[in-house]
Amino acid sequence: MSKLKTILAELAPTATTLVAVSKTKPNEAILSLYDQGQRIFGENRVQELVQKYESLPRDIEWHMIGHLQKNKVKYIAHFVEMIHSVDNLALLKVIDKKAADNERKIKVLLQVKIAEEESKYGFDSNTLMEDLNPGDFPNVIFSGLMGMATFTEDMDQVRNEFKKLLVFKENIKEKHFSKSDTFKEVSIGMSGDYKIAIEEGSTMVRIGSLLFGRRD
Ligand SMILES: *Cc1c(COP(=O)(O)O)cnc(C)c1O
Repeated sequence: MSKLKTILAELAPTATTLVAVSKTKPNEAILSLYDQGQRIFGENRVQELVQKYESLPRDIEWHMIGHLQKNKVKYIAHFVEMIHSVDNLALLKVIDKKAADNERKIKVLLQVKIAEEESKYGFDSNTLMEDLNPGDFPNVIFSGLMGMATFTEDMDQVRNEFKKLLVFKENIKEKHFSKSDTFKEVSIGMSGDYKIAIEEGSTMVRIGSLLFGRRD
């Protein structure tokens, strides 16, 4: 069985979505998975994302998973399917504006800081609860949360960080998205921790190296 098939078989019982993280990998590698049926790919750099979008089949769903600067939203707003890495309200405002300019809606995940380690990106969960007003952003589809666990061998710690995010999801859903039927995704799990993520309730895993091989 191919690696893709093996992973899809693991995700099937929980109907977890696979985002194939193709950053740094050439078009041929992407097409090889495409030919096996994979349609959702994730990239973390705007320039690379745009180049791949322009040169690969149009029915690929592109997900932006890396840190995004406000001034670069305009390059991806006309095609990006989902942005996983929304970590501040100013960025959310720009995404909303650029979605409107392109007469479309963009799905977003709110990235929340769950790692114990000093991580640069992600909302502080308390701040997000207080400051978010979803009604201010009519052109984005709030689709759920994204989190990244601490980079560690300690899988108990990783599991606890995932649990924290799932609890937070229930809280924020109750406060801000109780009437939403789109706010349901939890994007957690990468090559090293996706099995734990699935056990803890991930609905979307972002897997790169396990599918494509190591990046240099
Ligand atoms: C690179 C990356 C991944 C995939 O990492 P692997 O360990 O190669 O599976 C997932 N999420 C984000 C945000 C990334 O930048």
